[in-house]
Amino acid sequence: MTTPHGRSRTRGRFLTTLFTLGLALCVATPAQALLHSSSSGPSTHKGPFASNGPATPDIVDSTRRGGRAVALTFDDGPDPRNTPRLLDVLREHRVKAVFCLWGDHVRQYPDIVRRIAADGHTLCNHTMSHDDMSTWPAEDVRADLLETNAAIREAVPHARIPYFRAPYGAWGQTPAVAAGLGMQPLGWSLAVEDWAPPGTDELLRRLEEGATPGSVVLLHDGGGDRGQTVAAVARLIPALKSDGWHLTRPARRG
Ligand SMILES: [Zn+2]
Repeated sequence: MTTPHGRSRTRGRFLTTLFTLGLALCVATPAQALLHSSSSGPSTHKGPFASNGPATPDIVDSTRRGGRAVALTFDDGPDPRNTPRLLDVLREHRVKAVFCLWGDHVRQYPDIVRRIAADGHTLCNHTMSHDDMSTWPAEDVRADLLETNAAIREAVPHARIPYFRAPYGAWGQTPAVAAGLGMQPLGWSLAVEDWAPPGTDELLRRLEEGATPGSVVLLHDGGGDRGQTVAAVARLIPALKSDGWHLTRPARRG
């Protein structure tokens, strides 16, 4: 396979298939849809970085505490329509989440990133332009991840960015590169296709039925109008809490 370089990459055939099927942003393949873990294994790590560097780091897809706990993660923002409303909901219920930030959007809406950080949420690098990096060489991945972190820190100086999530779950060499930059690769164990979107009631049903102890839940506050996601989360959190669940953060192994 020809290796694309930098921004002028050619998207792989699987992405063409992905879009043909009408699926959207964060999920790598149709098989990774509902209830499927993102971290059934990164693709092979055969590049020079991986072979010469440390062992391939794990991709975490579970919470740091055991028992009836779930972690909420929100991808592809910040978004001026949805992120502020979502932050209101999280603040009302005193829940901390992870925001996987799209660098181009960070540059567009730095004020929202400042609010995410000020509210005590955890930041996650989700690349500059949401490219499929599955075939990128390590040096190109590294440059993009550094640029993304720089964009985040333009908005929030000295921000902690403890996680990285690959767009589409197309990990390629990104886990080792991210780990080398001090970021824990972050997968998920529950996706509910909120990008479709299927309706708030249906989203809530999928979330409540899909949540298992230790789930890392993939949701979206960006990449489109995620009003249904925000509405579902506003109902999910009190329902989970009244049922004895805890909202917590994902694990870190690095
Ligand atoms: Zn994404």
